[in-house]
Amino acid sequence: MDGREHHTFILAASILPLLGFVAAIVLLWNSVVGVSDLVAFGVMYVIAGLGVTAGYHRLFAHRAFKTTRPLKLFFASAGAAAGQAPPLIWTAHHRKHHRVADKPGDPHSPYGGDEPGIRGLAKGLWHAHMGWLFDEDLDADPMRYCPDLARDKDLRWISRYFVAFVLAGLLLPGLIGLAIGGTLASFATGVLWGGLVRFFVSNHVTYAINSVCHVFGRRRFEVADESRNVGWLSLASFGESWHNNHHAFPRSYTHGMRWYEVDLSAQFIRGLERLGLAWDVVRVDRATMERKAESLARVGGGRHVPHAPPKPLAEQRDLSPAGVADVE
Ligand SMILES: [Zn+2]
Ligand SMILES: [Zn+2]
Repeated sequence: MDGREHHTFILAASILPLLGFVAAIVLLWNSVVGVSDLVAFGVMYVIAGLGVTAGYHRLFAHRAFKTTRPLKLFFASAGAAAGQAPPLIWTAHHRKHHRVADKPGDPHSPYGGDEPGIRGLAKGLWHAHMGWLFDEDLDADPMRYCPDLARDKDLRWISRYFVAFVLAGLLLPGLIGLAIGGTLASFATGVLWGGLVRFFVSNHVTYAINSVCHVFGRRRFEVADESRNVGWLSLASFGESWHNNHHAFPRSYTHGMRWYEVDLSAQFIRGLERLGLAWDVVRVDRATMERKAESLARVGGGRHVPHAPPKPLAEQRDLSPAGVADVE
């Protein structure tokens, strides 16, 4: 799948889950939801969630750990079944985001517009959430941003047949529904809940990391962008919403850095490590973390830190870097 095909896919992947979600709400209203639907939703939410967070994000984009080939294939397939993008395109956009976060060239910064006030904020949030996916100029060449991954035969193959994995992500919950409910109707509602509704919910949680977590929440670390930690999203996002922590230490396998910062993805990676299935897990030692946090504490820290939002792009000079092949 190339960039143009990805655009067409994004359109379908935005509208169909929305329609599915509306249909599911109507069924829910009429109490037409069974145990098989909830199981299909739960299982698929976890598979897709781990694929995107532990797989696409921490393993591929940031190389936070190493793993076996079968697990690499699982992560790439599960991430593809989440229906956001092929692994090479997703990773290229994400590395580009880290390289120039909230500056010109960031594919999904909420601070890209030039309109002031609430209207500008709403437009920025929409752009960072989903609007960027429809940007005609959207481009991140995998050979430029992730040549290490583009050389991987398995990832190239999964990227090429991405749509088949998305369809499998619809079929599998149908089969779960069929196995539990035993009827064609339970197959159909399994596809609806574990497929379309799950696409809708899990994708909006991922999109919220780019929108909500760059505008609202708390900053623990003084970083060069507007990333924030958002506690209420942490469970649903498998720990990804500790986003200020993540921008401060992009390669860390865990984004939750205090005992109360729930990070299911990190727990999963730790579990794999214990089983000998993950190694070279990147950890940040506590002293380094606390030292970095202190710089923000000195100026007030937390939600109310005096921190001017970045200037609109129109007022900034082009800061795009020339070569960005290294891993964030
Ligand atoms: Zn970010
Ligand atoms: Zn990242």
